[in-house]
Amino acid sequence: MSKQPKKQSKPSINKIKKKENKKKPSFGVQRYRAIWEHIYKYKIPIGWQIHHIDYNHKNNSIDNLCAIPANLHKKFHEYQKIL
Ligand SMILES: [Zn+2]
Repeated sequence: MSKQPKKQSKPSINKIKKKENKKKPSFGVQRYRAIWEHIYKYKIPIGWQIHHIDYNHKNNSIDNLCAIPANLHKKFHEYQKIL
């Protein structure tokens, strides 16, 4: 087996950084999704949503974010209205 030197060109790193800047979420709906994905290093599955455990959408603390299927999420909020 021969060792293959890993060559990473610097311009690509710069490109990634630029992309990240562009991708930086604005203070919109997707912000907490980006936070969740960033912390757990995992893509939120299609059809899943991020639920705010304390129902406060301004509280984007990771302890308050929970990824759940969309249908279950809907039920959570319907149940909360009953309470
Ligand atoms: Zn929710």
